[in-house]
Amino acid sequence: MRVYHLAYDASAASLDVHFWTACSLHCRACYVAYNPLDFGLFDDPIAELSKTKILCPDSAYLSPDQVMGLIKDLPVKSAVFVGTEPSLDPELPELARLLHNNKGSYNILLTNAFQLADMSDIDELIVSIKAFDRQKHLEYTGVDNIRILDNFKSIYCRRKKMQAETVYIPGFIEMDEIERIAAFIGEIDPAIPLRIDAFFTVPGVKWRSATADEVEAAAERARAYLQKVNCLTLEMKRIGEKVIRVY
Ligand code: SF4
Repeated sequence: MRVYHLAYDASAASLDVHFWTACSLHCRACYVAYNPLDFGLFDDPIAELSKTKILCPDSAYLSPDQVMGLIKDLPVKSAVFVGTEPSLDPELPELARLLHNNKGSYNILLTNAFQLADMSDIDELIVSIKAFDRQKHLEYTGVDNIRILDNFKSIYCRRKKMQAETVYIPGFIEMDEIERIAAFIGEIDPAIPLRIDAFFTVPGVKWRSATADEVEAAAERARAYLQKVNCLTLEMKRIGEKVIRVY
């Protein structure tokens, strides 16, 4: 299995499971490629990202049994599968099953939805939509978005609990594009929540960081299509205890 890092938030009994796979997208600002460690470990994660680019994690990979061994004494209410693209790991379903059976965890998968994993033991998916416009999507990720948008609908049709996520990138993915994404989701079901993240710039990328006002204005536009739109901006501080590194 391609799990290289585990981070645990004791205040929420939440475990972040980080996978390192060869992602099918090639996003121009892939934060994982700058720093593969959990953001919750740092007081200032954005400062960490502005440092040297790291190309791969330095730890060995864990098997599902090794993960379960490392967390045997920890309560796990929720497990979040993150990293590059967890769906590409063939052992993700086994780990999700073990977490369900042994910990009773609520399993959340963050995915770009280019490929769909076995979702039997996944309770909720957070699907990232980089762009609705095909050309913009190609420009940002190097990959067409038709399959991703089709898979988004397919996940919904399977009655999986799901959210969408996108990133406001000044000068590239702005209010009009976010509106198109919201309209697409709203046609499927206006009750699907959308989170809009503020882009923060990294070395070698031409776009600046987004402001809270820009993100909130885009969210306001998206609320014409969707019942629940949240923002995640650079000014927001983490709540709860500091995250600990389990592995
Ligand atoms: S989908 Fe996520 S992991 Fe993959 S390249 Fe884009 S930002 Fe990186």
